[in-house]
Amino acid sequence: MEFRQTQRPKYDCLLFDLDDTLYPLSSGLATSCRKNIEDYMVEKLGIDRSKIFDLGNLLYKNYGTTMAGLRAIGYDFDYDEYHGFVHGRLPYENLKPDPVMRSLLLSLPYRKVIFTNADKVHAVKVLNKLGLEDCFEGIICFETLNPIHKSTVSDDEDDIEFVGLSTTTTSTNTNTISSSKIFDIIGHFAQPNPSLALPKTPIVCKPSIDAIEQALKIANINPQRTLFFEDSVRNIQAGKCLGLHTVLVGTSQRVKGADYALESIHNIREAIPELLEADIKSEVAYSGKVAVETSVTA
Ligand SMILES: [Mg+2]
Repeated sequence: MEFRQTQRPKYDCLLFDLDDTLYPLSSGLATSCRKNIEDYMVEKLGIDRSKIFDLGNLLYKNYGTTMAGLRAIGYDFDYDEYHGFVHGRLPYENLKPDPVMRSLLLSLPYRKVIFTNADKVHAVKVLNKLGLEDCFEGIICFETLNPIHKSTVSDDEDDIEFVGLSTTTTSTNTNTISSSKIFDIIGHFAQPNPSLALPKTPIVCKPSIDAIEQALKIANINPQRTLFFEDSVRNIQAGKCLGLHTVLVGTSQRVKGADYALESIHNIREAIPELLEADIKSEVAYSGKVAVETSVTA
């Protein structure tokens, strides 16, 4: 039959979210990150503490990240400063080297790419803490999808290839926004006015279809032959819309849009039963470090 002739692995790429996917939610980074974002909104943007909870939720829900939402409703700020503030004080010490995951990743004969909404500094730091820094061919991160902002100053602290756009655009940032120009999103949802559309964000991030499409294009990924690992249900569903095969991580409850659900990323092989056969063939030829080159620019 046909499958005999065309027998080859079903996938050729594994696309991984980073936070709460490659390490468990119980590490406490997510909780700490949320608190830092709230502090940023109060301390740096002067938002009333009493509004933070509702505002944060609305922004996250409607824009993918709080940061994207803050920009949409009219706040302007330096992206590096924001990322430094919200990630700078995370309990990274809670992340321990994960040799099991490391050998698992290295044994899987597929392209492996990180796709995170976080910034590059954070992504590299997390991968280093987990001891997974050499397991991926590239990272698609905030700066990759939002290159308008000045690119991260090269610090050469890592050897990970950074998948980025080769073109840079000029900055359109303006740092003068008066508070009267802030869109009242809490008021908007308190008194829904269907005729009034929400302002758009200039930030490209998951779960927007555009963000995922761009990421796939940049990393030259065919969604039909890619497994996408994510802890976020909405990101999973957006990925599914674009044809990715999806693996919800962090729960064994499958949801709509998820082809598989794994309590832990360590159970990765359960999501790839087809792998077992390919495994046997490839493990001999497949040794340690994978270094697939892609077009790479920071
Ligand atoms: Mg995540």
